[in-house]
Amino acid sequence: MRCHYCDREAAYAAEKDGVKVGLCEEHFRERLETLAESDELSALQEQLDIDRTE
Ligand SMILES: [Zn+2]
Repeated sequence: MRCHYCDREAAYAAEKDGVKVGLCEEHFRERLETLAESDELSALQEQLDIDRTE
């Protein structure tokens, strides 16, 4: 699985509303940092089923 934002191999697979989105380490952290600035983070963590891909 490739990262949704770049061509790197995805380190994480986030599933939301039945759609799987791949995220590399960098973009995963970037998304978390963005979300951490808002109250959406806790809500998102409940919604997302985040799997570590090896
Ligand atoms: Zn990426």
